[in-house]
Amino acid sequence: APSVSAADGLLARRRRLLGPAYRLLYQDPVHPVRGEGVWLYDADGNAFLDVYNNVPSVGHCHPRVVAALAEQAARLNTHTRYLHETVLDYAEALLATFPDEIGHVMLTCTGSEANDLAVRAARVFTGGTGFIVTRFAYHGVTVAVAEMSPSLGAGVPLGAHVRTVAAPDTFRRTPAEAAAGFEADVRAALADMQRHGIKPAALLFDTVFASDGVFPATGIVDGAVAAMREAGGLYIADEVQAGLARTGSHMWGFERYGIVPDLVTMGKPMGDGHPIAGMAARPEILAEFGERTRYFNTFGGNPVSAAVGLAVLDVVRDEGLMANAARVGAYLADGLRALQQRHPSLGDIRGAGLYVGMEIVEDDAARSPSPARTTRLVNDLRRRGVLVGISGAHANVVKVRPPLPFSTAHADLFLERLDACLGA
Ligand code: PMP
Repeated sequence: APSVSAADGLLARRRRLLGPAYRLLYQDPVHPVRGEGVWLYDADGNAFLDVYNNVPSVGHCHPRVVAALAEQAARLNTHTRYLHETVLDYAEALLATFPDEIGHVMLTCTGSEANDLAVRAARVFTGGTGFIVTRFAYHGVTVAVAEMSPSLGAGVPLGAHVRTVAAPDTFRRTPAEAAAGFEADVRAALADMQRHGIKPAALLFDTVFASDGVFPATGIVDGAVAAMREAGGLYIADEVQAGLARTGSHMWGFERYGIVPDLVTMGKPMGDGHPIAGMAARPEILAEFGERTRYFNTFGGNPVSAAVGLAVLDVVRDEGLMANAARVGAYLADGLRALQQRHPSLGDIRGAGLYVGMEIVEDDAARSPSPARTTRLVNDLRRRGVLVGISGAHANVVKVRPPLPFSTAHADLFLERLDACLGA
């Protein structure tokens, strides 16, 4: 078919021009040319139900976001060392979504930069260098945060000052056991740092443990956070995946735990596809950092990005997308649990709003992880026009994380096609 050879041509060009470090999703790569709401369309007019992308948070190409971007881009865009109202309006609107303890926000372009900045701020505030992250975490691309991203694999060694702990897995343990294990692992990592003369700076984790396999239970982090704080370190909540209304009950994932972090990093969904990210902080954490350093991020919080970020927050509010995430997320999880009755390979369904992890297992008594089934399922779904992704240390957790305007009708369509793939 012509589309296959066109895809082959693009693949070859991509490799020749962009080099060998990139990976695509799916055995048959998707080549979208247009997006709208929760749909992507390829050049042949095939529609794909997007059940994967949190970056187009309020829907692909949302007209209000596009209009805000175009209007500001037509008027003015500059670097960020001039006065401009919109960045302040955005900062105000963003900070209004946080608890009172969080009083400043610094804007960047990517989640990696936000985490990199948090690492710097935590080092200055604590005088420490030690960081604890989960065993299959991903926190970004800079040297500092790639060294704290064990999911990148053995080819990217962890920093000498970095310790890893198992994520609080609530499938193979009860939530209480997972919480106790998480805390015990953090205490052991702190003891190990002490033996090596490393002063702790922070515990950094994704508030739904997305890369570790999606563990959105509550009540599982309190002891771990307390242990780090007792040792003089900070708690950094990485909200790049969980944040911005996705979990349905709260704007930010950390709020589900009822513990206010010292630093919060965020990114992906803030700009509906436009590169905006940032770090929110307790003001006291930034006091000395601000004296020692001047922070200039050329594009972070420029007038166009700020206008886009503000439009995204407006849409989330005006379209009730947080309530939608709660309602449709619960409907989707119920539907998945119903499918679980008939399909034993669905080992576990765990979700918070529109972030759901489906753990795919073998039929054996141990319900061992089944990466082969997972890969087959995700590629079968793609062939049936449904996009999902994979996460977890064993690559056996299907990541279900659609744009927030996902409706119950979209959920029904997803469930129907998933049922067909699982039955095939
Ligand atoms: N933190 C988490 C939890 C992420 O998932 C990602 C991106 N996958 C990042 C940080 C890095 O964000 P970015 O790609 O925007 O640099």
